Amino acid sequence: KLEEDANGVDSASSGFSFQNESKWDDHSSYGAKKTLQAWCKLSNGDWALGKVLSSSGSETVISLPQGKVLKLRTESLLPANPEILNGVDDLMQLSYLHEPSVLYNLQYRYDQDIIYTKAGPVLIAINPFKKVQLYGYDFIEGYKRQKMDKPHVYAIADAAICEMKRDEVNQSIIISGESGAGKTETAKIAMQYLASLGGGSGIEYEILQTNPILEAFGNAKTARNNNSSRFGKLIEIHFGATGRISGATIQTFLLEKSRVVQCADGERSYHIFYQFCAGAPKSLREKLNLRKAEYYKYLNQSSCCSIAGVDDSEMFFTVMEAMNVVHISKEDQDTVFAMLAAVLWLGNISFKVIDNENHIEVVSDEGANTVARLLGCSFDSLNMALSTRKMTVRNEKIVQKLTLEQAIDTRDALAKSIYASLFDWIVEQINISLGAGKRRTGRSISILDIYGFESFTKNSFEQFCINYANERLQQHFNRHLFKLEQEEYIEDGIDWKKVHFEDNKDCLNLFEKKPLGLLSLLDEESTFPNATDLTFATKLKQHLDSNPCFKGERGKAFTVCHYAGEVMYDTSGFLEKNRDLLHVDLIQLLAACTCNLPQAFAAKMLVQSDDSTSGPFRLSGADSQKLSVATKFKGELFQLMQRLESTTPHFIRCIKPNSLQQPGIYEQGLVLSQLKCCGVLEVVRISRSGYPTRMTHQKFARRYGFLLLESVASKDPLSVSIAILQQFNILPDMYQVGYTKLFFRTGQIGILEDTRNCTL
Ligand code: ADP
Ligand code: MG
Repeated sequence: KLEEDANGVDSASSGFSFQNESKWDDHSSYGAKKTLQAWCKLSNGDWALGKVLSSSGSETVISLPQGKVLKLRTESLLPANPEILNGVDDLMQLSYLHEPSVLYNLQYRYDQDIIYTKAGPVLIAINPFKKVQLYGYDFIEGYKRQKMDKPHVYAIADAAICEMKRDEVNQSIIISGESGAGKTETAKIAMQYLASLGGGSGIEYEILQTNPILEAFGNAKTARNNNSSRFGKLIEIHFGATGRISGATIQTFLLEKSRVVQCADGERSYHIFYQFCAGAPKSLREKLNLRKAEYYKYLNQSSCCSIAGVDDSEMFFTVMEAMNVVHISKEDQDTVFAMLAAVLWLGNISFKVIDNENHIEVVSDEGANTVARLLGCSFDSLNMALSTRKMTVRNEKIVQKLTLEQAIDTRDALAKSIYASLFDWIVEQINISLGAGKRRTGRSISILDIYGFESFTKNSFEQFCINYANERLQQHFNRHLFKLEQEEYIEDGIDWKKVHFEDNKDCLNLFEKKPLGLLSLLDEESTFPNATDLTFATKLKQHLDSNPCFKGERGKAFTVCHYAGEVMYDTSGFLEKNRDLLHVDLIQLLAACTCNLPQAFAAKMLVQSDDSTSGPFRLSGADSQKLSVATKFKGELFQLMQRLESTTPHFIRCIKPNSLQQPGIYEQGLVLSQLKCCGVLEVVRISRSGYPTRMTHQKFARRYGFLLLESVASKDPLSVSIAILQQFNILPDMYQVGYTKLFFRTGQIGILEDTRNCTL
């Protein structure tokens, strides 16, 4: 039997080569291992664990839990881990690392409400979609006093604090996962732990109170998540020299503006609109001429104004309270609400056609007049801005009348731009209150809650930017995990040839190369007035077709081969979204308003336009100049990466166990695809190429010493360990002896465990 095993091991080892290895192959097939149980793939794609009844070379008979007996090709089976490894805290402890063992281990824990598991240095968090008894004072204290050591967000936050103090290096907690996976909740749980360190003068409370505000203005109900964040967020929490919280800075990324004027059926616009309509006190309602949410076109077009189990009116008070805590004055709050009302009433503005060329003017009704009053401009100037456009043609200034379609676009552009400016303004106020401008002397911990990789049936400009960001984050992830892994080998003095990792730089190149990369070509095409989404798609095909990460598709589409899989993008709207131009007429309208916020918004837009020296690339058109959205995003992303590079990262990967947002349901296929996307399988693969199983000499000798057939002369743990390895014929390729530990390639402990179990 031993000989058979040795052969199996041998053939597995000859296949070992990190770069040539297929992603998730059967490095140690059942046939080579002959475990008591094995995994087989069912016709629906799920894996089932069966008991091996008999095995004769090429065929194996196994019985499944429901009493079904199957005869299968031996090579189609995967070896199962011994039962003592059921539900281990860290996937690295598994002897056999393959799809079913990882899925099973996570599910085994999830079924007991143990939602956190480590994958080496990475924390996996599976969304429970219900309250779990894992949080609060007792748990926080437990982790603080290091009395608890199970995988947890608290443990990650604690490690960040300890390493920040010990190494005097800034830390970051990078949370990723797809929409609804639990990123924002996880970020809040981490913030709670950090806040428990205290700061004095209530700064920690203030930091926590930024959450309801940002969620109200930046989250919405989508098909995937009732509380989906429509922006990325980095919060940097600063610590003073004494280790107490001294302040924080928040940076946001890429708010989804289009949601203000349009969203899919059953989804909602930003929470704040509904909260405001439901909860504003009478005096405010009268002052702003506010109606119920259902009255507003921007809110009623998706036939969904409420969320089951959520009281919008109560939330409004929570948000107002939170605004007080972050020192937004009552007066400023009133102006914020006036802007919200102005956006809502903008959506209700209607146009009447005035000639047979479909030219229009604004109807002077309640909607338009309320907007004018709230912004502080006259009806006439609002009408002019929405129904005409000043242009310069051959050095002559002309006024062009807009068609109905153009006027609607103009109106919506104004609404989006007011809302996005308002969002930025609120973040700015929060930062002022949290002391962002102060000089910092101490260290910081940053928490990044950013949209994960997205691949839908239809993927647009937003997915393009999001997935580009994820390529960058993935590169950062790989670099750090490799470094960590290799450092431990070197520390324990084992012979270790550095593994060169085939990273995702080709895909990043496809995006970033100048002048022939996706971003440059997009910007170039965005500057041509006559360009269309189709000419853009054609241009991409023309220049990038030879790139292995790119595939031209028919019509307006193209495909990018991302690290997490192929995504086909539809270029419809790419150019317009990238230009994101607010016509200068509208900026001037805002600038001339008597209300101070529109003025401030306009001033900001003009600064961005004038500041034409700082960026590498400018768009010009409609008499104004500004950075394209993609270029601005790339700049922010580079800044973010630079900041993260100067920190010690801690990674949390959130997993959504089902698409129903329901507790207790674990869909293998869905979990697996996320494990692949967020790089967890990669981590496992990385460790598999090394020595994932580690055990101190002492523990190894104690655990398996009794299996020795001949006694060993020297009783020291190392000699006993070596004797065990020899007796079980574990080949020298399969392990290394470090100063303190034995390091094993994956699957090597399995046979020892099985023998031990049969013997005991
Ligand atoms: P994401 O930010 O990844 O889109 P969220 O953090 O908003 O996802 O989580 C979606 C929903 O899942 C939350 O509104 C909450 O109901 C539930 N949820 C997530 N994490 C937890 C948790 N740790 N405990 C309980 N419920 C959770
Ligand atoms: Mg979120």
